[in-house]
Amino acid sequence: TTRLNIQKIRKDFPILNRKVNGEPLVYLDNAATSQTPKQVIDAIVDYYSNYNANIHRGVHALSQEATDKYEEARHTIQQHFNAEKAQEIIFTSGTTDAINLVANGFTEFLEEGDEILVSAMEHHSNIVPLQMLSERTGALLKVIPMNIEGELLMDQYDALLSKNTKLVFCNHISNALGTINPIEQIIRKAHKVGAAVLIDGAQAAPHVKADVQELDVDFYTVSAHKMCGPTGVGVLYGKEDWLNKLPPYQGGGEMIAEVTFEKTTYAGLPHKFEAGTPNICGGIAFGAALDYMNAIGFEAIAAYEHEILEYATQKLLEIDNLKIYGTAKNKTSVISFNVEGIHPYDIGSILDKLGIAVRTGHHCAQPVMDFYKVPGTVRASFCFYNTKEEVDVLVKGLKRAVAMLK
Ligand code: PMP
Repeated sequence: TTRLNIQKIRKDFPILNRKVNGEPLVYLDNAATSQTPKQVIDAIVDYYSNYNANIHRGVHALSQEATDKYEEARHTIQQHFNAEKAQEIIFTSGTTDAINLVANGFTEFLEEGDEILVSAMEHHSNIVPLQMLSERTGALLKVIPMNIEGELLMDQYDALLSKNTKLVFCNHISNALGTINPIEQIIRKAHKVGAAVLIDGAQAAPHVKADVQELDVDFYTVSAHKMCGPTGVGVLYGKEDWLNKLPPYQGGGEMIAEVTFEKTTYAGLPHKFEAGTPNICGGIAFGAALDYMNAIGFEAIAAYEHEILEYATQKLLEIDNLKIYGTAKNKTSVISFNVEGIHPYDIGSILDKLGIAVRTGHHCAQPVMDFYKVPGTVRASFCFYNTKEEVDVLVKGLKRAVAMLK
């Protein structure tokens, strides 16, 4: 793999030049949202400066240009995830929206006696919509447990699967622990019993390139803001057959073929799921973000981030009484930890004073915190623009925080 030119890459991100509390920003909250390169910011400025218009309906030039760019972005996303067809890419407001679309649609297909499996390390966005689905339909929600390293217990998964299993929901990579889940196996086994699988790729997409055809996954979700794109836009990939079967999620403009007060017929894919004026600029900027990341290269990104993960893990473990949660063999650059006797929030606050941005709390995965019997953790999550020098700043800051709080 080619080496990344990190100093050149860092110049693409204007925000990395700023100071926080008088100190150079060290941004280690990438699992919450990533920063935006000027190539993506330029795409946003270009849209509002030059061709802002509503899409799909206009005969005028601006509307045509905006439509073309939006559909071009859909095509970029289709190619990136290797979907067979562009219409299998549904623009949503993000992963949460995409999961709700699917969970809502399955109301029609589930009944009492059916079962939904969900992993023990899910984000709330993958738990709550399913609980609501379970309440609506009487289908039972069951949990695939994990071990203390933060790895799913695959023999227990095997035992949970049955002809009653209709749906399996699992994240590709856990945002709380960094675990890379064996989704190939999860998908294959679910299909053997006839269950559909939704993989939440929100945390995975910035680190690894998923091939939805090779995975044979039924649904895959991503959020642009975690991969150098803007907030408020994401994608649901769905196999065409499934998307045709699922009912529309929201009614409105754009998603209809014909409307009378007696009866409405729905538009075909992807419009059936894209009611109302979408986040046009966001979709276009998402395409620009993928172009940006692909120009760097996902293999080089993964190799570099792995190096940072190993370095940071080793350095953090040199701190007395520091415990890392999530020690799976297969993991990405997310490190959740606590220092014994110190509340994560206190550590986060002191680090902030030093210009270091980390996340503290439950990371929208309370069941994971309950599993480890902690109220929360400190989470440092790394992106390809982070450096070993920044890891050193984190470790130095932590030592200072620990000394103050002990
Ligand atoms: N799932 C995972 C694994 C995530 O990391 C996130 C975002 N942190 C989400 C779902 C929710 O994504 P969004 O808030 O963009 O809808």
